Amino acid sequence: MAFKLPELPYTYDALEPYIDEATMRVHHTGHHQGYTNGLNSAIEGTDMENMSIEEILATVDPCNKAVRNNGGGYFNHVLYWQIMSPNGGGEPSGELADHINKAFGSFQNFKELFTKAGLGRFGSGWAWLTFDNGSLRIGSTANQDNPLMQFADFKGTPILGMDVWEHAYYLKHQNKRGGYINDFFNVINWKEVQKRYESLI
Ligand code: MN
Repeated sequence: MAFKLPELPYTYDALEPYIDEATMRVHHTGHHQGYTNGLNSAIEGTDMENMSIEEILATVDPCNKAVRNNGGGYFNHVLYWQIMSPNGGGEPSGELADHINKAFGSFQNFKELFTKAGLGRFGSGWAWLTFDNGSLRIGSTANQDNPLMQFADFKGTPILGMDVWEHAYYLKHQNKRGGYINDFFNVINWKEVQKRYESLI
């Protein structure tokens, strides 16, 4: 079974003015389609054809660059589209909000730490919020690695992911990653993040 590029749950211009239409279109139809195609050709004829993307990532050999990069890219972007929304932004509510306050002191502190994780990732990569064994953690990975991979710099089960590759913001923010991160907070779909958190409790 080949993996398919999922449709976005909103239109390309829906996240304006925070994330621009041109970026969303190229990111989805260019980059994410590319990772999807790359993954499908890399797993063709192997046992991975019958595995879920989560199983593939949990077992991929770090030296298998085609599956590592394209499988990571496939999964990371599926998550990324879902944890953004034109009705997003603001702060989480309920148990997740309580847990964020407990783990990081306040939502404002969480925002600062998550921003730091995104800014501190040199070159291309992702910032993450994970939830495992009752703990929320913030970290980052390089390139298209993600916390499900055994050998990742930062491991866990992601419930929020922020793409900090330049292709995610260059058209609008040029080199200013901090401006993009600030805008990203205005489109975070906290309802979706909360749903993922609750599914792991
Ligand atoms: Mn991307």
